[in-house]
Amino acid sequence: MEQQLLQLAVSAREELDRCTTQASLEEFRIEYLGRKGRFSTIMRGLGAVAAADRPRIGQAANQVKAEVEALFVTRKEQLAESGNTRRHGLDFSLPGRKPVSGRLHPVSQVMQETCAIFASLGFAVAEGPDVEVDYYNFEALNIPPHHPARDMHDTFYFSESLLLRTHTSPMQARIMESRQPPLRVIAPGKVYRCDSDITHTPMFHQVEGFLVEKEVSFADLKGVLTIFTEKMFGKDLPLRFRPSFFPFTEPSAEVDIACVICQGSGCRVCKKSGWLEILGSGMIDPEVFRMVGYDPQVYSGFAFGLGIERIAMLKYGIDDIRLFYENDQRFLTQF
Ligand SMILES: [Zn+2]
Repeated sequence: MEQQLLQLAVSAREELDRCTTQASLEEFRIEYLGRKGRFSTIMRGLGAVAAADRPRIGQAANQVKAEVEALFVTRKEQLAESGNTRRHGLDFSLPGRKPVSGRLHPVSQVMQETCAIFASLGFAVAEGPDVEVDYYNFEALNIPPHHPARDMHDTFYFSESLLLRTHTSPMQARIMESRQPPLRVIAPGKVYRCDSDITHTPMFHQVEGFLVEKEVSFADLKGVLTIFTEKMFGKDLPLRFRPSFFPFTEPSAEVDIACVICQGSGCRVCKKSGWLEILGSGMIDPEVFRMVGYDPQVYSGFAFGLGIERIAMLKYGIDDIRLFYENDQRFLTQF
């Protein structure tokens, strides 16, 4: 009889595993645990067992019954749960979907990095208006009306005297006008020009920087910009200063770095020259000092302006500036 009970426990377990619906589970209950079920049938034979063995076998029978009942309840709960799942059209066993996390735009990243490098050299950050008056955008920077340099700027005008700033340089005049040297300032921000192709967008970002003190030389300018390019692009990248012209600096220089694509051997991006222009700079013109009331005999200084999109393109090897403003997730999530 003990043997029968053990077999019952084994086959009950197997049978339960095969039950996949509430109906088959009910059939199982009747077959095994019902009043005329297999367990009751075995128990009816208890009367024929020797009186001495009866307590031991009775105890074993109760144990088997409790076990089968517990298995039955567990299975019933499992089926109820998967029934719920189907009812709501959900499968709780599927892996979850990760929420899309935001990140900084590559232009913002390079902007922050640029500001951090100059801040580490003691430059303060100043911001100015996007809508500027003609005086600060041009005249105070030694670009009087009808000066040919105005043609290069492709300016958006609101009226004869009001415009969208074409560079961040107006901050130079605004700050010098209201403060006395020594000054070390950078002015990051948006600038606007009526221009659009693979290297120009109508709105882009610049960082203007300038330093005014006694006895500032071109060597100081060279030192500051060398530190900047080393920190931004790495130490081993050659740098060159090429003579240029800006109305508000004299002498002026454009700064090139060795092409980051071909390392100087010449390619399509650098137009076979091996060099890429990254910024304009120079010693502040004495005429600009006179306009803000500084004595050019006492003070000297340098200024530079760099394009953030241009630096981001060189840093990440991007060949079309418009990609920054198409908001394509596949592009933006790479940075
Ligand atoms: Zn190249």
